[in-house]
Amino acid sequence: MANQAQSPSVHHKTVNPLAAKLQLRLDPDQLTNCMRCGFCLPACPTFAETGIEAESPRGRIALMKAVADGIMEPDRAFEEQMNHCLGCRACEPACPADVKYGRLLEQARDAIEDHTERHSIGVKLSRHAAFKKLFPNQKRMKLIGRSLQWYQQSGLQKFARQSGAMKLFPKHMQAMEKILPEASGQGIVEQIGTRHPAKGERIATVALFRGCLMDVLFTSTNRHTVDLLTEAGFEVVIPEEQNCCGALHAHSGEAEMARSLARQNVQVFKDAGVEFIVSNAGGCGALLVEYDHLLHEDPTWKEDASWFAAHVIDISELLVRHGRLPEFHNEDVSIRITYQDSCHLRNVMRTSDAPRQLMKQVKGVTYAEMKDADRCCGSAGIYNLTQPEMAGQILDHKMEHVRDTQAQVLLTSNPGCLLQMKHGIEQHGLRDQMQAVHIVDFLHDHMHPSRK
Ligand code: SF4
Ligand code: SF4
Repeated sequence: MANQAQSPSVHHKTVNPLAAKLQLRLDPDQLTNCMRCGFCLPACPTFAETGIEAESPRGRIALMKAVADGIMEPDRAFEEQMNHCLGCRACEPACPADVKYGRLLEQARDAIEDHTERHSIGVKLSRHAAFKKLFPNQKRMKLIGRSLQWYQQSGLQKFARQSGAMKLFPKHMQAMEKILPEASGQGIVEQIGTRHPAKGERIATVALFRGCLMDVLFTSTNRHTVDLLTEAGFEVVIPEEQNCCGALHAHSGEAEMARSLARQNVQVFKDAGVEFIVSNAGGCGALLVEYDHLLHEDPTWKEDASWFAAHVIDISELLVRHGRLPEFHNEDVSIRITYQDSCHLRNVMRTSDAPRQLMKQVKGVTYAEMKDADRCCGSAGIYNLTQPEMAGQILDHKMEHVRDTQAQVLLTSNPGCLLQMKHGIEQHGLRDQMQAVHIVDFLHDHMHPSRK
């Protein structure tokens, strides 16, 4: 009789260690806040692709709640559902109950990753190398940058492409190689130093968040960011000791490592004494604005993390709201452009008008709004590597809409989205018709030559 009276949740806590971890970590308030209305369903790309309830935000929350309540065991299918989610967070602005779905997903993934007996030794080693040894170590990132730069400049890249040697590699590596940006062995600080005065009267002093991958694969975008900011009246400092934002860690179940990186960044930017912390990558910015939540259980860092989060702003928002905008000209007779939102910039930082306003200010361009521009492109951090099938399906639909705009330039605000768009353009044979460009590079290209 005693056994019969025992609740299923108590029973599962004792038999399934993953269930116990999920029950501990999943926020019960967020789980119960979901009233199952389904308003989030039309916003969800994985639901749009499959039409399956379990592939929707409401379905995933129901699965988490069933595990938290002890009425379901977290089996392989449960884990797969959590991994199929893009983490694009389009469900959040659509939700009338303000359910913090992103937090639930991170809590679920964190519990799953803690429960790593199922990982092969190869997976464990590569996760350890990427998350703990590479991204948080800017020296190693630069070493990767230098190796790529050597590959690109030594003639090896040309040889690999012309000889067909690339065909020996897996398909996704061939695709990535085709869209590899020009790598740099030197980060932005080595290239231009740490402090840059405003042109004209100073509006504010801001700090640039340079990013880890951005600093070696998109160094010119960072340089252009500094040019735009100083031109618009901001003094720019680039704190040298800043580190990776931790977004890939937080989204992949490495919450403790993400917290450690956050503490380092909070300290460094607090010491810089600036009025804004500027991000030019939606993926990074979205975690930076949530450092307050990431460190909310840490009494030592809680207050400074709140200060940090409140001071982070995307470059487009800063330029539009506080900057002295330069004139942007277009040399070509006419040019048609379109824009793919960065999910995290739009859904977490809630910035979608500012980039559109900025690009429309370039004289001589015609802006064509793309259908479903607010829908994820399938890049989603490393989703296109871990879930290539779904990412490919989403990208195919995206490229149909891109093609319909007949744009010559496709703009984005995040390096991951930019690479995914470049990949889509290659894959769909649109290389001769259009190019994908970061909005910062586009604006910089259209500044008056004397101002660069
Ligand atoms: S984060 Fe994106 S993919 Fe995941 S449930 Fe929400 S809308 Fe769907
Ligand atoms: S919109 Fe919000 S409350 Fe409604 S089902 Fe989706 S997550 Fe739940």
